[in-house]
Amino acid sequence: MNASRPHARLHRRVAVIGAGPGGISAALAFHRAGHEVRLFERAPKVTPLGGAVLLSLPVLSILRHYGVNIDNLGAMAVTEFRDWKGRLRVRLPFNRRAEEKARLPGWHYGMLRAEVIERMLAVLPADVLYPSQRCTGYEEHDDHVRVDFENGEHWDADLLIGADGIRSTVARQAFGDPGLFHCGIIVWLCWTQHVDGIGREVAYISHSPTLQASYFPMLHRGKPAFEWWVVEPWNEGQMIDGDMKSHVGHLIDGWCDPIPKLYEATDFQNNAFRWEVYNRPPLSSWSHGRVSFVGDAVHPVSPYAAYGMGMAIEDGYWLAKSLEGTDLADRVGLESGIEKYDRQRVSYTNKQAILARRMGYLFHRTPWPLSALRDAVFNRTSFLEHFLVKEYLKDAEEQMISLDL
Ligand SMILES: Cc1cc2nc3c(=O)[nH]c(=O)nc-3n(C[C@H](O)[C@H](O)[C@H](O)COP(=O)(O)OP(=O)(O)OC[C@H]3O[C@@H](n4cnc5c(N)ncnc54)[C@H](O)[C@@H]3O)c2cc1C
Repeated sequence: MNASRPHARLHRRVAVIGAGPGGISAALAFHRAGHEVRLFERAPKVTPLGGAVLLSLPVLSILRHYGVNIDNLGAMAVTEFRDWKGRLRVRLPFNRRAEEKARLPGWHYGMLRAEVIERMLAVLPADVLYPSQRCTGYEEHDDHVRVDFENGEHWDADLLIGADGIRSTVARQAFGDPGLFHCGIIVWLCWTQHVDGIGREVAYISHSPTLQASYFPMLHRGKPAFEWWVVEPWNEGQMIDGDMKSHVGHLIDGWCDPIPKLYEATDFQNNAFRWEVYNRPPLSSWSHGRVSFVGDAVHPVSPYAAYGMGMAIEDGYWLAKSLEGTDLADRVGLESGIEKYDRQRVSYTNKQAILARRMGYLFHRTPWPLSALRDAVFNRTSFLEHFLVKEYLKDAEEQMISLDL
């Protein structure tokens, strides 16, 4: 099935570099808007990173809007914050207005990243994707931007979208060295088929003084499964003793159920991944003439609260939305549409990314005895609930409620 194209009269050329979630989202959104889109990917085949992922209501609503089939894609649950012995700290509420707007219950859904990408590609017309095309840079002119490739080819576009990930070639040319820095944490991400005896209605994010171990129900090809992960303080270049399975087993030794059961059920050869987390200093604008960006190319995020894949998908939607009705050949109109996109996304995304990084430091790098004080506050006061509901969820829920799909 092809995505429908409601605004086909404004047919201009849009080059998207990188077929990750952000690039595919941008390609779908601009194709729907009636443009000639080319999505250039350096790899011969689109290969999603990592295993499972959590996506939230705004992201699922955007995917459905593109025509992506989201039926039986993921599983939802109530999220609780607990300590590593199982003591409840916070149960996150659902927002009724956000649920009504999305026409979906809950907030987060667990799913396999590869399945999301497959379903997105299923609605992308075959002639949009150009694999084995590594972008090496671009040359901006008043009336077009010329995109260059490693094989000597080039393509002239009205708009260039850099969606080429954390080590983006396009962003480096536009903004210089990104100044990537290690966030001091690593994530061990795993998933397994359903395990009998583990409930699917409630999931948790749980913390010891320095570690996080969490789980969430998900679907794997429509069948019940679980994703689970462990976050650990980590220094750049640090090595593990032994293999991933024994390393992670040592971390969760003594943890409350169901983490040990999920560990026992997991096939570490195929369904376990490591994610060493890097960020960049925030940018105040993502645009440069006829060039704009989505996803990790301009805002890599750490896993806490922020949602790298979801944000990248949202960016693609908002960029096309901000340029709706604009003639992309007209530089003045283009720049003003892109500025609108910056206003919509940059401070929201920076806030989420900074919040996520601070939570990483708070939970994993707070030294003793401050960590003991932190845990006493989290166990005995409503501070954590206030922080999560007001600082993290509120903006994302407002965004869901304001989505005009
Ligand atoms: C192991 C791992 C696990 C993760 N797990 C999660 C998770 O559970 N939840 C979550 O929200 N986030 C997770 N993340 C982060 C998440 O993957 C990113 O935030 C998200 O993929 C960003 O999407 P993107 O489209 O911006 O970039 P990417 O997904 O990085 O895609 C960029 C694409 O551009 C291509 N490319 C790069 N350079 C060029 C070039 N010069 N020319 C052409 N193509 C190019 C790449 O091949 C790639 O296909 C994880 C990251 C890693 C590494």
